[in-house]
Amino acid sequence: MPIKSSPSSTEAAGPLDLIRKYSISGPRYTSYPPATKFAAEIGSLGLEEAITSDNAPGAGPISLYFHLPFCETRCWFCGCHTVITLRRDAACEYLDDLEREMRLTAARMDRNRPVTQIHLGGGTPTFFPPADLRRLGGLIRELFPQRSPDCEFSVEIDPRRLTEEHVVALREIGANRASLGVQDTNPRVQLAIHRIQPQAVNQQAFAWLRANGFASINVDLIYGLPLQTVESFGRTIDDVLTLRPDRLSVFSYAHVPWIKPTQKIFDDREQLPDAEAKLGMFAAAHRQLTAAGFIDIGLDHFARPDDSLALAQRAGTLHRNFQGYSTQAGASLYSFGISSISSTPETYRQNLKTLPEWRAALAEGRLPVERGLRLTAEDQRRRAIIMRLMCDRRLDFARLSRELGVDFASTYAKELAGLTDLLTDGIVVRTEGGIAVTEVGIPLLRVVAMRFDPLFTEAPRQHAAAI
Ligand code: SF4
Repeated sequence: MPIKSSPSSTEAAGPLDLIRKYSISGPRYTSYPPATKFAAEIGSLGLEEAITSDNAPGAGPISLYFHLPFCETRCWFCGCHTVITLRRDAACEYLDDLEREMRLTAARMDRNRPVTQIHLGGGTPTFFPPADLRRLGGLIRELFPQRSPDCEFSVEIDPRRLTEEHVVALREIGANRASLGVQDTNPRVQLAIHRIQPQAVNQQAFAWLRANGFASINVDLIYGLPLQTVESFGRTIDDVLTLRPDRLSVFSYAHVPWIKPTQKIFDDREQLPDAEAKLGMFAAAHRQLTAAGFIDIGLDHFARPDDSLALAQRAGTLHRNFQGYSTQAGASLYSFGISSISSTPETYRQNLKTLPEWRAALAEGRLPVERGLRLTAEDQRRRAIIMRLMCDRRLDFARLSRELGVDFASTYAKELAGLTDLLTDGIVVRTEGGIAVTEVGIPLLRVVAMRFDPLFTEAPRQHAAAI
């Protein structure tokens, strides 16, 4: 159930006033500390040794991520690490190197740990021909053989680059969940973002995936793209609901042209909606989706009430990782491919981001790690606090005291006292035994999390705006 804000606060300041007052650039907290804090001292951080020390008795399950970076064309809004090419042989060559990385890593791992989650992301995983996807599936089976019976195996799908043969191959290797990039169904918006994708293409992808037994299909949408209006985005939501997805991700467009120069074209054309229009789009999407029976999860996800994400949110076991919200808490993440990020309970490590650098490291028999972090005990406590805020939109002081082994209210008294303005403005309310983010505060969830992040300093050139 959404948490109601106190009437006095919403009367005092409307949602847009609050966005104007509080919206500052900051991390999305798919990790804590965020990737902007990773350092290049791989040796002194002991990042390679972290793999072997993660084999300790009682270690949790394993989650696997494969970054497949190729795309045929570039969507101008895209913030992913991609390689644009039409050369199909690139996939096979990449797999040769991916196999090297998988074998180097697997040799250091306890491969008896169960694999509970596998994700193929990109880029465009279906840039890979079906035969290459089968080869990747064979390698995963060979090197990580202990797949748990309820393993969630998801793949990111670009409906424009999908054939039924891809879907059959993906099912054969065990994929059971798909996430479709749709973004917006309006042809004018599609032209402005360099991504033409007729609704018939989305319908065909859904039909193939359903016919081949994919248990869960997610759709990704983005608001804040050029030429979008509240009305046009509402029609996109209507179009997507006709596809009957199980989940939706409704992301705020992150405009970071200093990091992604292709996005500069949006500044030149002056077609981006302003903050007021963006907020209107998210509010309208929230209304439409909840009216259609979806539950809002965390920051930007929606799921059917019987979906595992919705069940995990109700149970307080929702988790957040580099792919967004997840039901798989406590797993170590092993990631492969350029720019991918791995994590153990005490470390993060990120791979080299360019194809030549990643390839050169593997040719020398080295793990292709570029940078990372070793978490202190305090970092781990802060990670748990920010995780609970981002997943539950509340902090339960008794639960946190138990889980962190400290008295939460006194240990973090300074941070709690620093919430006064958020309380006054109705973004946060006190509850019995804790605090909760209000419905009006949801778009500012990251801003509440920043108050518990001692590493955060406002640096507009590092992150996108909160809305
Ligand atoms: S297809 Fe996906 S990964 Fe590739 S450029 Fe477009 S948005 Fe980015």
